[in-house]
Amino acid sequence: MKMIFLGAPGAGKGTQAEIVSEKYKIPTISTGVIIREAIKNETETGLAAKAYTDSGKLVPDDVVIGIVKERLSQPDAQNGFILDGFPRTVPQAKALEDMGINMDLVVDIEVPDEKIIARMSGRRACKKCGATYHLEYKPSRDGKTCDSCGEELTVRRDDDPEVVKQRLEVYHEQTEPLIDFYKALGKLVTVIGQEKVEDTTRLTLEAIEKGIKS
Ligand code: AMP
Repeated sequence: MKMIFLGAPGAGKGTQAEIVSEKYKIPTISTGVIIREAIKNETETGLAAKAYTDSGKLVPDDVVIGIVKERLSQPDAQNGFILDGFPRTVPQAKALEDMGINMDLVVDIEVPDEKIIARMSGRRACKKCGATYHLEYKPSRDGKTCDSCGEELTVRRDDDPEVVKQRLEVYHEQTEPLIDFYKALGKLVTVIGQEKVEDTTRLTLEAIEKGIKS
C-alpha cells in the first residue's frame, strides 16, 4: 500500500499519517521530519535547507527528491509507505513516477486557511524525536514534555504566524496543483478536516477503504 497525504501545512497530514501508518503497519516518510533532523544534525543537506524552511519556502526539488529516493530504498519501505509532505510540487510528483513508483492512493485533507492559522498557534513539537502535539487538540500528557521521550516541547520556528502565511501562499501556488494532477489519474480521495483528530481519522479511514475498493 503506497499512499500520499496531501494538504496545507497544519491540515493534520502528519497526525493522520501516524495513525494510518500504525493501522496498516507501513512507515510514514515525512520529508519535513527528515529535513528538521538534518538541520539539527547540521548535515550538508540540513545546512542547505535551513534558510528555506526558516522563511516558509520550499527546499529545492533536487534536494528533496534526493532525500526521498534514498529513504525509499531502505528495507522498511519495500512493502508500502505513506508519504507525508511529499510531493509538494508537480516536478516532485513527476520524479516519483520516474522512480517507477506507482502510488495507490492520494488522500487530500482539506482545511480552510483561517482555521489553519488559528490551529498553528497551538502546535508544539518535540525537538528530540520529532513527535507533534497541539495544546488543544492533541496535548501531551502533562502539556509540556514529550510523551515518547520526555523532552521539553517547543514551537517550531516555521509555525510563527508570519511564516505560516508564507507557507500557505506557497501551498496554494505550488502544491495545490497536485490535487488536479492526482484527480486526473483517478487516485484522489478528499477528506474534510474536522475539529477533532478522531473525527478526521474516522473520515480518513473511510476514504481509504473506499479508495482501495474503487
Ligand atoms: P512540513 O513539516 O511538512 O510542513 O515541512 C517543513 C518544511 O520543510 C517546509 O516548509 C519546507 O521548507 C520543507 N519541506 C518539507 N517537505 C518538502 C518538500 N516535499 N519539498 C520542499 N520542501 C519541503
